[in-house]
Amino acid sequence: MSYFNIDSVKDRTFDAIVVGSGISGGWSAKELTGKGLRTLLLERGRDVKHVTDYPTTMKNPWEFDHLGQITKELKDANPIASRCYAFGEDSSHFFVKDAEHPYVQEKPFDWIRGYQVGGKSLMWARGTQRWSQFDFEGPARDGFAVEWPIGYADIAPWYSYVEKFAGISGNKDGLPQLPDGEFLPPHEQSCVEKYFTQQMSKHYNGSRPVIIGRCAHLTQPKDIHFQQGRGQCQNRNLCQRGCPYGGYFSSNSSTIPWAMRSGKLTMKTDSVVHSIIYDEKKGGAANGKATGVRVINANTKEITEYYAKVIFLNAATLNTNLILLNSTSNRFPNGLGNDNGLLGKYIAFHNFRTTISGEYEGFLDSTTEGIRPNGSYIPRFRNLLKQETDFLRGYSAGFGTSRMTNNDTSGIGEDLKNSLANTKYGNWRVGSHMMGETIPKESNYVALDKTLTDQWGIPQLKISVSYDDNDEKMIKDFHEQLTEMYTKAGFTNIKTHDKPDKAPGLDIHEMGGVRMGKDPKTSMLNKWNQLHNCKNVFVTDGACMTSNSTQNPSLTFMAITARAADFAVKEFKKGNL
Ligand SMILES: Cc1cc2nc3c(=O)[nH]c(=O)nc-3n(C[C@H](O)[C@H](O)[C@H](O)COP(=O)(O)OP(=O)(O)OC[C@H]3O[C@@H](n4cnc5c(N)ncnc54)[C@H](O)[C@@H]3O)c2cc1C
Ligand code: SF4
Repeated sequence: MSYFNIDSVKDRTFDAIVVGSGISGGWSAKELTGKGLRTLLLERGRDVKHVTDYPTTMKNPWEFDHLGQITKELKDANPIASRCYAFGEDSSHFFVKDAEHPYVQEKPFDWIRGYQVGGKSLMWARGTQRWSQFDFEGPARDGFAVEWPIGYADIAPWYSYVEKFAGISGNKDGLPQLPDGEFLPPHEQSCVEKYFTQQMSKHYNGSRPVIIGRCAHLTQPKDIHFQQGRGQCQNRNLCQRGCPYGGYFSSNSSTIPWAMRSGKLTMKTDSVVHSIIYDEKKGGAANGKATGVRVINANTKEITEYYAKVIFLNAATLNTNLILLNSTSNRFPNGLGNDNGLLGKYIAFHNFRTTISGEYEGFLDSTTEGIRPNGSYIPRFRNLLKQETDFLRGYSAGFGTSRMTNNDTSGIGEDLKNSLANTKYGNWRVGSHMMGETIPKESNYVALDKTLTDQWGIPQLKISVSYDDNDEKMIKDFHEQLTEMYTKAGFTNIKTHDKPDKAPGLDIHEMGGVRMGKDPKTSMLNKWNQLHNCKNVFVTDGACMTSNSTQNPSLTFMAITARAADFAVKEFKKGNL
């Protein structure tokens, strides 16, 4: 294809371009098309069609070559991806192959990626809690990073907006640190989870609530979900394979088909966005405009340019950083919009390094039924109203329970059946994992490697991110506090399990590098997610986050995206972009 053919240029010109079709990109595509913009959605990976491209979704364990286990060969070939708990024989096809997508670990960092239509929305664990004003106020109150330009009140209506469409189940718990949302009915807690909730309420006078998790599952679909072609979750907990019922929210089951139905979406797969094209003569005043993106065909390596007045970057946090760093011009030699040198800096993540386990000897006449795709949740209780520990911020935690068994799987055929028939239940096993807020710091950064490139000639990303003293103190406190809570609940055999050599990244909640803020001198984006210095480029994935809370992030990415897209369409219609 020639760049100079006028018809061809017309064919490659849209109102808006969205880069990346994962959780945030799916929302950009849905909102921009829904509000009338002819939109091009560019995805570097292959197409994954809802239902038909979920090859393992209906398989029984014995239908897998290795009963669902990963082989040593697969593990050795993918030392990074295979460290993710969701990487299995049933789901490995949704994770990138380590060798095909190298990056430089200046410090150890497990970068978990899903390069396909739907991105990581296919494999995610669907935990969806709103952030609260405690989170948006964090940097200003505790004196780190930079002040957020928006607060909870700005985003609250957009949480409601995306929750209704995506379908979020949960209970209205009335907690200031975890605002209630537009919930579908909650899952039920197990008897031991209920017991723990009651014990914590009694021993801590309401200051350490334990609630059922809030998650993106259709416990009772509404009309808007049936209109998307989705149905009720069947409690199979095989979600990382893709769900044939559309029981959980993914871009594939929800936002992308919806955008397609608008007739305004063009999606191109195998399209690796190399950089954003910038024209300093367009747009007048001090700053020019982005005019489009440069794309490399993943298979043929052919380069094509696409043009639009509005560009949404949704390639996931670190890839969005990479694209901006790689978008150089005379005006921006260090990356698009990067006058202040902050691009790529102040990366934060969630500290998932440690867990606690125990046993409970009660309720031995009960067990669980079905496989509820959810657990209980302990919202942050540390340093909420005031600073009370020797570390900043706090942590939330999961809380899960299951009956132990003496599961005897010896023998095959008839013998195996007989062994299993003798299975006896033991005590309840209880456990929690910590999800700690980390402080965004200039020293946690990503940059382009000066010499190494990937197979498309794009510089490899160098990641330099590590834990700090605040994280170590938080881990110690988690061990002490959770041990105390488990002890008060009468749990026994309590053990903490820290893994100091577990690298950051496996939380898969990396954020920052293109942070929002009030001042162009100290931030990259304004309160509408526009690059301060190139207003028609919007960043609405995790790269935009100024700080990172203890809650899971993706619901906030969705809400921020819908809010920014609404603004972008209004500006586009006024001719301002
Ligand atoms: C196992 C697992 C469990 C998780 N659990 C939770 C959870 O419980 N709750 C929660 O909130 N979050 C969870 N997450 C994280 C969640 O999946 C991410 O926060 C979310 O998917 C981020 O959305 P995104 O749109 O930024 O990126 P993604 O969903 O990763 O989508 C990015 C897309 O951009 C494409 N892309 C990248 N680079 C380019 C390029 N140069 N050109 C074109 N396309 C490109 C990618 O191929 C991909 O499709 C989990 C993730 C995993 C893997
Ligand atoms: S648990 Fe629900 S969402 Fe997950 S695969 Fe089963 S039906 Fe689908």
